[in-house]
Amino acid sequence: MLIVKKFGGSSVANRERIFNVANRCIEDFRAGHDIVVVLSAMGDSTDDLIALAKDINPSAPRREMDMLLATGEQVSVSLMAMAMASLGVPAVSLNALQVPMITNSRYSNAQLKSIGSERIMAELENRKIVIVTGFQGVNKAGDVTTLGRGGSDTTAVALAAALHADVCEIFTDVNGVYTCDPRVVPEASKLGEITYDEMLELASLGAKVLHNRSVELAKKYGVQLVVRNSMNREEGTVVKEDDGMMEKMLVSGIAIDKDADRISIIGVKDQPGVAFSIFNALAKKNINVDMILQSIGRDGTKDISFTIDDGELGNALEVMETLKKTLGADKIDYEEKVAKVSVVGAGMATHAGVAAKIFEALYNTGINIRMISTSEIRVSVLIDETDADRAARAIHEAFELEGLNR
Ligand code: ADP
Ligand code: ASP
Ligand code: MG
Repeated sequence: MLIVKKFGGSSVANRERIFNVANRCIEDFRAGHDIVVVLSAMGDSTDDLIALAKDINPSAPRREMDMLLATGEQVSVSLMAMAMASLGVPAVSLNALQVPMITNSRYSNAQLKSIGSERIMAELENRKIVIVTGFQGVNKAGDVTTLGRGGSDTTAVALAAALHADVCEIFTDVNGVYTCDPRVVPEASKLGEITYDEMLELASLGAKVLHNRSVELAKKYGVQLVVRNSMNREEGTVVKEDDGMMEKMLVSGIAIDKDADRISIIGVKDQPGVAFSIFNALAKKNINVDMILQSIGRDGTKDISFTIDDGELGNALEVMETLKKTLGADKIDYEEKVAKVSVVGAGMATHAGVAAKIFEALYNTGINIRMISTSEIRVSVLIDETDADRAARAIHEAFELEGLNR
């Protein structure tokens, strides 16, 4: 079998853990499998690099940020190869340029365009364990890019697809995918399996256990994906296509996103084209907008509110200040201390009353809802950030998600 194994930052945080990972990989290698390892940067080192950059220049050019952040993964892959060598196993570390893993030039959020498999296949042929940097890419010009925070998962799935791996195992610091972040809701249940679609919603809505694009790619290329704990032998969670055998859960999970910020433009004219002007201007700056709320027009004016990721706040406010003048709005208002809590479940599409139950749970807990958005398989609410964990626990309890066995 060809197995791609990805280990996150906490799994390679120190010497002991590096050797733990090395030994796990060697075990499968000695059993005769071809092993490709994808690593994140050690522990919190990506955060440390970001802090270093902020201290020098709070609005550092994105190209230079990527140049800096990509170094973290190069540290972990080389150390891993050294660890394996010390255990007498031939291993080779490769960065994005060496693979190569080609992306577009959208620095800090680059998308993979192509992956060369020849070099890796040749190394495997020579019976080496191949260790690849997660998170980083290289554009056509040869410049270093990164895939966005948490992007090593996407590197792993993309490699699994390109190499036609038999399985892609994502090793992290929890036993698999839970009904909610187990650090926030200790009663959360581990799911034995989850559909790509449900996982994609959860990941896109803030469940950091998997990078959302990794799930998208896994679905697109049919990659067999398993989320497991690097520190134990639990079976983990299988992410897969809905095969019709899986019971459609009314609610399969709750995601908490504390990185959301709200922006409002107050007193714009109540006429056609206003929403277009605003969201077109934001899109041109590559700013992703999530929830949108427009008030009913009164006295010829209306207000429009929306949420964005907090990393985009500075850029978005710049765009909005310009729009305030051209649209003749009264003011721009924003709030950082908000969080989005989302409830996901494939069964929602065919069941009424899910939203009402969520609102009831929040009401019973005394939590005020600022914005609401829904899709076929999710309901999201924007609330005060300080209420987020309490809200998740209340909703988890309302849907009786503890002690599940799926
Ligand atoms: P890694 O460094 O291994 O990539 P991450 O920190 O990116 O690890 O992701 C793992 C973390 O995701 C867990 O420690 C957990 O706190 C968080 N998490 C959020 N939502 C969930 C969920 N639904 N199931 C499991 N873990 C979750
Ligand atoms: N090291 C990167 C990050 O911290 C990528 C990853 O962990 O997946 O975001
Ligand atoms: Mg991660």
